[in-house]
Amino acid sequence: MQFIRDILAAKRAAGKPVISFEFFPPKTPEGDRNLLEKTIPALKTLRPDFCSVTYGAGGSTRDKTLLIADRIQREHGLTALAHLTCVNHTREQVGELLARIRALGCKNILALRGDPPGGGEFAPTPGGFGFSSQLVRFIRETGDFSIGVAGFPEGHIACKAGKQQDWKHLAEKVKAGADYVITQLFFDNADYFEFRDALTKLGVTVPLVPGIVPIQSAPGIKKFTQMCGAKIPPALAARLDALEHDDAACTEFGIEYATQQCADLLRQGAPGIHLYSLNKAPSCLRVVRNLGLA
Ligand SMILES: Cc1cc2nc3c(=O)[nH]c(=O)nc-3n(C[C@H](O)[C@H](O)[C@H](O)COP(=O)(O)OP(=O)(O)OC[C@H]3O[C@@H](n4cnc5c(N)ncnc54)[C@H](O)[C@@H]3O)c2cc1C
Repeated sequence: MQFIRDILAAKRAAGKPVISFEFFPPKTPEGDRNLLEKTIPALKTLRPDFCSVTYGAGGSTRDKTLLIADRIQREHGLTALAHLTCVNHTREQVGELLARIRALGCKNILALRGDPPGGGEFAPTPGGFGFSSQLVRFIRETGDFSIGVAGFPEGHIACKAGKQQDWKHLAEKVKAGADYVITQLFFDNADYFEFRDALTKLGVTVPLVPGIVPIQSAPGIKKFTQMCGAKIPPALAARLDALEHDDAACTEFGIEYATQQCADLLRQGAPGIHLYSLNKAPSCLRVVRNLGLA
C-alpha cells in the first residue's frame, strides 16, 4: 500500500485530482456487511486513491477503525487512511496503537485531537496529548507513516481568537510533520480559497484537500453543521428548508450542489476531493461521474 504523500505527489505530477472517500465504522454486523460488501465495492469501480476510516469519539471505535481499515486494504486492495485521536489515550497507548497499525501494513494516519465523548471542553488525558500537533510530532518520531491533519476553512469552532489564529495553529501542525490537510466540510468555496490564501501566506505548501459532503438529509446536515460550526449559506438554507421532509429530493439536490462545488474547486486548483460518503455509495458515484472522473 502507498503513502498518501506519494499518491498526492504522483497525481499532481500527472495533473490529475486525488479522489478519496470517508467512512465511519458501522455499529452493527449488518452495517459492516453493507459497507464492506456493497458500498466499498460500488465505490471501488471509481478507482479511488484512498479511503479513510474515522475514529469514534473517545476512542470508542478503536478496534473497529483498525479492522475496517485492514479489510479495506486486504479485501479490496485500496489504500486506507486510519483516523486517530488523542482522546482518552496516553502516549504509551498511542505508541501501542501505532505498532498495531504498522503491523497491519497501514501506512497512513489522519492525526486528530478529537472531542470529548460527552461534549464540553477538551481536556488532555494525563500522560497524553493536548493538541494534534503533539500527536503529529509523536507519530513522526516513532514510525514511518504519511500523516494528514484536519483543517477548518471557517476556523475551528473552539478557537475563540478567530480563524486567522486557528490557521496559525494549523500551520504549526503542518510544520510538526503533516504531509497534507483534509478540510472540514464547507458549502461556500470562497471560504476554502480564503483559507488556502492565508495558509500560503503562512508558508504552508502541503496539499489542502477539500472535504465535501453530498447532502442527503436536510435535518441531518443542519444538526451536523451546528455541532462542527460550519455555516450554511442563506440560499442553501432556503433550499434545505424546502426539502426538510423529502430525503430523496434532498439527495438529488445534494448531488447537484456537491458537483458544482467540486467542479469549481478543481477548476481553481484544488489538489483533489475527499468525499464524506456517510457510508453510502450512490451520491458519491453520481458526483464523481458528473465530474468526469469515473
Ligand atoms: C477531515 C476531518 C476528519 C475528522 N475525523 C475525526 C475522527 O475520525 N474522529 C473524531 O473524533 N473527530 C474527527 N474530526 C473532528 C476533530 O477531532 C475535531 O474537530 C476536534 O475538535 C479538533 O481536532 P484537530 O485535530 O483539528 O485539533 P487541534 O489541531 O489540536 O486543534 C484543536 C483546537 O486547539 C487550537 N490549538 C491548536 N494548537 C494550539 C496551541 N498551540 N495553542 C492554543 N490553541 C491551539 C486550535 O485552533 C483548535 O481550536 C475530524 C475533523 C476533520 C476536519
